[in-house]
Amino acid sequence: MSEAGSSRESQRIRLVRAEALVLRRRDLGEADRILTLFTREAGKLRAVAKGVRRPQSRLAGHLDLFMRTNVLLARGRELDIVTQAQLVESFSGLRQDPWRVGWAGYLADLADRATAEEDPQPALYELLVDSFRLLATRDDPFPIVRRFEMRLLVLLGYQPELFVCPRCGKRLMPGKLAYVPDLGGVVCAGCLTEGPSEILLSVGAVKALRLLLADRWQELENRPLSPQLRGQIETTLQAALRAHLSGPLSSADVAAVLDRRQGNGNDGDCTSPLAGASG
Ligand SMILES: [Zn+2]
Repeated sequence: MSEAGSSRESQRIRLVRAEALVLRRRDLGEADRILTLFTREAGKLRAVAKGVRRPQSRLAGHLDLFMRTNVLLARGRELDIVTQAQLVESFSGLRQDPWRVGWAGYLADLADRATAEEDPQPALYELLVDSFRLLATRDDPFPIVRRFEMRLLVLLGYQPELFVCPRCGKRLMPGKLAYVPDLGGVVCAGCLTEGPSEILLSVGAVKALRLLLADRWQELENRPLSPQLRGQIETTLQAALRAHLSGPLSSADVAAVLDRRQGNGNDGDCTSPLAGASG
């Protein structure tokens, strides 16, 4: 090695400070965890938190799932090591209901799958922080989750076409409409084929999707949305995401089950912990 003072940079350890959300965690050995951190500055990283499962660990309580934390990382060749962590925001409301946890997990999963390691995505980071904050405090996850899905599509460059038919190029008019995942947009009545991949949409559903596209999601909070309308919006956005993200959107199924917040077929079952919030 000919390192005659030309490079003062250590060839071994580089310390990096970052603000991060904990997207995933997995136990490692007796007391460690491997974390998937989504950092604002450096994008997604995997890092080991040594001893974090010991109650007396200085890291414990700062690196739980979905927490927003300032971390100091020692960057290694394989995995990074978390050497310090200071909680910024815990989103404590998220942990008060299983359905909030379920939806937060779904958003974290989408963010994980939509990003490559060490590819900074500050806009997506801010969107996830904002969405966790809303999920922790609002009672209807629907507008928050659908808004995240739509913003994610826009950030990935896959904004759905909701104004002009992608088959014939004509402006969409009220009538029979359907979202076609392969075309990435809503086709007009004249271009419908009633094929199995077409998702039939009411005019109300197209309007709601346009509100989401314009990031006017709050307007969906204040209006009654029928289960059919919600179903059309959800199916459309998930079909659009599925076209661009590999693998099934498994967490969506879990979260959808949690979100039903009803007894599952047991008439009059009001004892379910999920039955309290009326939908
Ligand atoms: Zn058309």
